[in-house]
Amino acid sequence: MKYRRLGRTGLKVSEISLGSWLTYGNSTEKNTAESTIDAAYHAGINSFDTANVYARGEAEKIVGEALRKYPRESYVLATKVFGQMGEGPNDKGLSRKHVFEQLHASLSRLQLDYVDIYYCHRFDPETPIDETLRTIDDMVRQGKVLYVGVSEWTAQQIQEGLGTADKYLLDRIVVNQPNYSMFQRYIEKEIIPLSEQNGISQIVFSPLAQGVLTGKYKRGAHFPEGSRATDAKSNMFMDKLLVDEVLLKVEQLEKIAKEMDITISQLALAWILRQPNVASALIGASKPEQVEENIKAVDVSLTSEVIEQIEGILA
Ligand code: NDP
Repeated sequence: MKYRRLGRTGLKVSEISLGSWLTYGNSTEKNTAESTIDAAYHAGINSFDTANVYARGEAEKIVGEALRKYPRESYVLATKVFGQMGEGPNDKGLSRKHVFEQLHASLSRLQLDYVDIYYCHRFDPETPIDETLRTIDDMVRQGKVLYVGVSEWTAQQIQEGLGTADKYLLDRIVVNQPNYSMFQRYIEKEIIPLSEQNGISQIVFSPLAQGVLTGKYKRGAHFPEGSRATDAKSNMFMDKLLVDEVLLKVEQLEKIAKEMDITISQLALAWILRQPNVASALIGASKPEQVEENIKAVDVSLTSEVIEQIEGILA
């Protein structure tokens, strides 16, 4: 495994991180979830991601339990707040009340005293940004959060967050968690340049386009049994990916991977890691073998010719 510094901090995260959305506490059976997390840990992955909303807290419980047997200093644990956790008017968003209560609920489910990274899962237009960032800063000062992150905020919202932190001398945002893959590149235009200027790294989610960039979904064929695409509870964000236009590109990418004697998932992850502003590609995995295949991407470097060929396919 290789490690990169997270933004302007001294923290190092593995180039591949493992997440728990739709899998742990959900579609993946508990023992398999634990063995997948174990495989990741033993392969040198030190960066694990979850959120309060994943399976309404169940993912945090499973991730926390799986990691409990390892020394706390040997892994970086991230969780998030924003999504709906109950039916009441204060059961979602980034208000002082909800953030304060949810951090404590997350710590209790994770069986931890602190989280390494605490993300605002989305921007909350109904809460003043200083209310949210001051609350998280209080948690930093109490030793319950080490680093501040945001997820899917626009460049303008990140800029506002940085300005607020400077105004009130709060801990700054050091990590952003956006969707980034060969099929989702919006961060390249504004977010990456802004982040580079401000010591923010990206830990990018769905780098394999939810499994589409593994080549297992073929045009005109039945999707493999047990895959995310065939799970009605999990495939709600896959419609735009499971279309001929995308799957044809995957076939072309697969040819490049074959020529390089690697798998397409390794090609897709190496392509993500070509970006120096990305600290880590945050994958999901429903079984240990997927982790074992995907982590080999850290040893793949792409020549400028290959990057150009890929651009040609994606254009
Ligand atoms: P990926 O794009 O890596 O997709 C992961 C899924 O693809 C796996 O669960 C598995 O699904 C399949 N897969 C992975 N590797 C292989 C392989 N080698 N061979 C075959 N199939 C494979 O990422 P996710 O969409 O799962 O997102 C990763 C993490 O990012 C989440 O767990 C979460 O922590 C975070 N996230 C954050 C969001 C945010 O708003 N901040 C939003 C979404 C995710 P299967 O076997 O079931 O087909």
